[in-house]
Amino acid sequence: MPEKIDLLDLELPELTDAVTSLGEKPFRARQLWKWLYAGVLDFDGMTDLSAAFRAKLAAGCMAGGLCIADRQVSAQDGTVKYLFGLIDGNLVESVLMRYRYGLSACISTQVGCRMGCEFCASSHLGLVRNLTVGEMTAQVLHMMKDAGERISHVVLMGIGEPFDNYGNVLALLRRLNREDTLEISHRKLTVSTCGMVPAILRFAEEGIPVNLSVSLHAPTQALREQTMPVAKKWPLPELLSACWKYVELTGRRITFEYALVRGWNDSPEHAAALADICRNRLCHVNLIPVNPIPGTSFSQGTTAAVQGFQRILEENGIAATIRRELGSDIEAACGQLRRDTMRQAGKEQQ
Ligand code: SAH
Repeated sequence: MPEKIDLLDLELPELTDAVTSLGEKPFRARQLWKWLYAGVLDFDGMTDLSAAFRAKLAAGCMAGGLCIADRQVSAQDGTVKYLFGLIDGNLVESVLMRYRYGLSACISTQVGCRMGCEFCASSHLGLVRNLTVGEMTAQVLHMMKDAGERISHVVLMGIGEPFDNYGNVLALLRRLNREDTLEISHRKLTVSTCGMVPAILRFAEEGIPVNLSVSLHAPTQALREQTMPVAKKWPLPELLSACWKYVELTGRRITFEYALVRGWNDSPEHAAALADICRNRLCHVNLIPVNPIPGTSFSQGTTAAVQGFQRILEENGIAATIRRELGSDIEAACGQLRRDTMRQAGKEQQ
């Protein structure tokens, strides 16, 4: 059987071609597009399309091809973690968080990840494949539909390294920003990278003013390369010069993510070294008390230690926030997402 066409993978002109090749008038593509981005991913719900057209769509097309295999709600804060089944049987997780300013969707960009950061659960089983634009878009649309509410922010901080799937990620960011899709403004879109230097430099030239986060986690090369293999390929001095080049070219502030691990990167000396890196630069530090990952020994310091680390940064004039952890009771917090939640999916199927 030929594979179904993923309509969410198409830009509007391509969708128009697909629609005309099914024997429909070109304007039908606009109608279809409108339904898709309203979160109606089931052709039967597209009530202004003829039954015959809907049947043709169902036979040869799909909209992302995702199904919600599991859904868990945090008793702590209402964060929802979704386990999505992909058309080829793979699984990814995404998280929907509620903030004062609206709903923020944290989506996955790859099935697994090959970056190998030791403190991150997403890395532990390696990379299977990149997600398509359609699959990334569908994560957002399913969550929007499920919440029954507009999604105001999208962060590419789920499973995967966004810059290892560069082309699709760029197309996704452009797609989400369009006024005839979800119209999410650039400053409400965030990409996070573990430090792929050539991609940071390339991204600086794209003219797409979204937020960029860089997962730093250590203020020295010696420390960073202990847990992040990417640091061996692109050492800290190279990474930092790419970051400053990005700031210079875009005029945009960079956010450094720093997961605080007790006894590893959380001493006052580490804070002072981080302050030296950031001093007089257009940047901001986001401190994340490390989330425990089964099979690793990384643990959080005390609240006082975390606050002490933040204080040192602030005394040095560096803007630093401590990230409020959402969804940690359902393993939906930073670094806790995985692609091996078969156990849960299996439970659903019984
Ligand atoms: N690969 C990208 C996108 C993942 S974003 C990146 O590395 O930036 C997820 C963020 O959570 C990253 O900053 C990541 O380093 C961080 N993270 C990973 N494991 C974590 C853990 N156990 N506790 C807290 N943060 C973690």
